[in-house]
Amino acid sequence: GVDLGAPNFDGKLEELGLLAKTAGYEVAERVACKRRAPDPALFVGSGKADEIKMLAQATGATEVLFDQALSPAQQRNLERHLGMPVNDRILLILEIFAQRARSHEGKLQVELARLQYLSTRLVRRWSHLERQSGGIGMRGGPGETQIELDRRMIGDAIKRIKERLVKVKKQRATQRRQRERRDAFTISLVGYTNAGKSSLFNALVKARAYAADQLFATLDTTTRQLYLGEAGRSVSLSDTVGFIRNLPHGLVDAFAATLQESIDADLLLHVVDASNPAYTEQIAAVQGVLKDIGADDVPQILVFNKLDAMHPDSLPLVPQDVMELDGEPMDRVYVSALTGEGLPRLRALLAQRVAERSGTDEDNTP
Ligand code: GDP
Repeated sequence: GVDLGAPNFDGKLEELGLLAKTAGYEVAERVACKRRAPDPALFVGSGKADEIKMLAQATGATEVLFDQALSPAQQRNLERHLGMPVNDRILLILEIFAQRARSHEGKLQVELARLQYLSTRLVRRWSHLERQSGGIGMRGGPGETQIELDRRMIGDAIKRIKERLVKVKKQRATQRRQRERRDAFTISLVGYTNAGKSSLFNALVKARAYAADQLFATLDTTTRQLYLGEAGRSVSLSDTVGFIRNLPHGLVDAFAATLQESIDADLLLHVVDASNPAYTEQIAAVQGVLKDIGADDVPQILVFNKLDAMHPDSLPLVPQDVMELDGEPMDRVYVSALTGEGLPRLRALLAQRVAERSGTDEDNTP
């Protein structure tokens, strides 16, 4: 991974490494690069590019990832210079989303985002080539025709996917109405990538998971029934896609429908990696995305996870307290999805919230 000139790039490189691992890469080496402005041809200086090439050869790396967005020309030049595939953060995130998309709709959304990303690059590359061929008097050359063709094909594919998405969305709206009629209390897990959402999800549903996976099989989130003891009422818990710093805006839009799951929930469990020194910034990043998708007014419980891995100096004095977030007091519970510590307390708090909601519902009935 390469991060250029940005302050605090150690943390950013670490996150790029985390994203890479999430996508299934093994990180061989991290390279930071201090420069005031990116090099137009190679993004980094040619000395740095040579250093990266040597490191890649020494470590047996087969691909280079950049933390910042590369122009199509930079990407191509770098690939030529380094002799291996070069990708940037946006492509990496697209890959992760593609791997994680489970539903038909999710897959369509990723494909749409990918094609839209491709088409902007193609347009840029095309105009660049046009300028070039114009310069040497080769207007309408074979390269241009090919790119024009590619562009039309991508345009057609985008149109087809959009049409299919409209159909899928209609089906989904019907399913949501059916779900509302069932009157289940719904809880969504949100949180920064790697906070432990999936682990917590599994830890919470393992004890008494109903085999109800099929129920919401077309939604892009995994949803299971959650048993909370005598409270009795049906509660469903959903695991959502991970939130990431500076999620590219195109992707936020593309996934608005998937993330919409969070808006529809009665309660959000905001999972935080309490052992990560950067957890404050990660909370802020998640709050930012929630705001972007209009889910910032859904009640939240902060679940400070990885209690077992917290530094002894920063261990909490009490297992549960109230934390002020954006001026709102929020319940905070410390747990470890790994060891199970604190989970009974979290379950009790959930049962209490569900009971409170049922109470209000009854009060509202005439
Ligand atoms: P997600 O990206 O938020 O779904 O996070 P995951 O559930 O995939 O967990 C990310 C990493 O953190 C995995 O390596 C987990 O094993 C680890 N992890 C999750 N919960 C805990 C915990 O309570 N303690 C420790 N030490 N590690 C945890």
